[in-house]
Amino acid sequence: MTSAGRFAPSPSGELHVGNLRTAILAWLFARSTGRNFLLRVEDLDRARSGAEAEQLRDLHAVGVTWDAAVVRQTERTRLYAAAIDSLTAEGRTYECFCTRREIQEAPSAPHAPQGAYPGTCRRLSEAEREIRRVSRPASIRLRADVSEWAVEDQLQGSYTGVVDDFVLRRNDGVTAYNLAVVVDDAAQGIDQVVRGDDLLPSTPRQAYLATLLGLPVPEYAHVPLVVNHDGARLAKRDGAVTLGDLAAVGIAAGTVRDIILRSLGLPAGSLETALAAFHPEGLPRDPWVWITPKAGTASG
Ligand code: GLU
Repeated sequence: MTSAGRFAPSPSGELHVGNLRTAILAWLFARSTGRNFLLRVEDLDRARSGAEAEQLRDLHAVGVTWDAAVVRQTERTRLYAAAIDSLTAEGRTYECFCTRREIQEAPSAPHAPQGAYPGTCRRLSEAEREIRRVSRPASIRLRADVSEWAVEDQLQGSYTGVVDDFVLRRNDGVTAYNLAVVVDDAAQGIDQVVRGDDLLPSTPRQAYLATLLGLPVPEYAHVPLVVNHDGARLAKRDGAVTLGDLAAVGIAAGTVRDIILRSLGLPAGSLETALAAFHPEGLPRDPWVWITPKAGTASG
């Protein structure tokens, strides 16, 4: 299988300039290393009808191209079930009946990192599980035998983060993101993961899970997020932030692409031109502050 990079949006709404910048970066990383580029729609959760089509349209509008049919996670639940079954067969999962509230209120295990699952259901007997099953469907958690794991990141260096008994399948039956992403990246031959650095804390869990499943751990590059003028992560409420909003104030998709490329210290005009000048070492390491340009001032 040809090695590949990818962009994996959740179809919850229109992409904003921050998402588009991450997609462009993922494309540049993949293309500059001779990889294919794939698009995966992470629609297990938070999907809004129509959002996928809008996202694909906007990616095309800024010049992002991909090499194979779009993959949707809702079409791959059998693969996720097989991975969970194989972990279960090795005794690496357990049923959890905790509510969010119970987890918050449970005393945390000694030395457990902040926010880690306290392990309440880890040691339930079969008889105790029988009783709990009557009142509440179980989620499936990984029985992790480490509490942290290290990953190498091309931009962030070595990063060690928490691994707890994280959820593999939620109690409503939906596969958890951390499981799906690991299974999909491996199944699609994705060996380079470029995404926003808000996902860096989840990466040790994913790399550990890949290792348990006997899957290769991809290369990682976590890129800085785009923030508003208050330094908070860019959101829809921050004014004109999607291609649709920007078009409405007279700023075309090509102009948005060029603003993004310049913010990366790259020449504008097309992604191909930018590709010729792309070096990961030269990328800005700080969050990029988005200020909606005034129409007519943005081009050139
Ligand atoms: N679907 C995730 C998101 O849109 C990204 C997952 C990933 O890149 O691993 O936040």
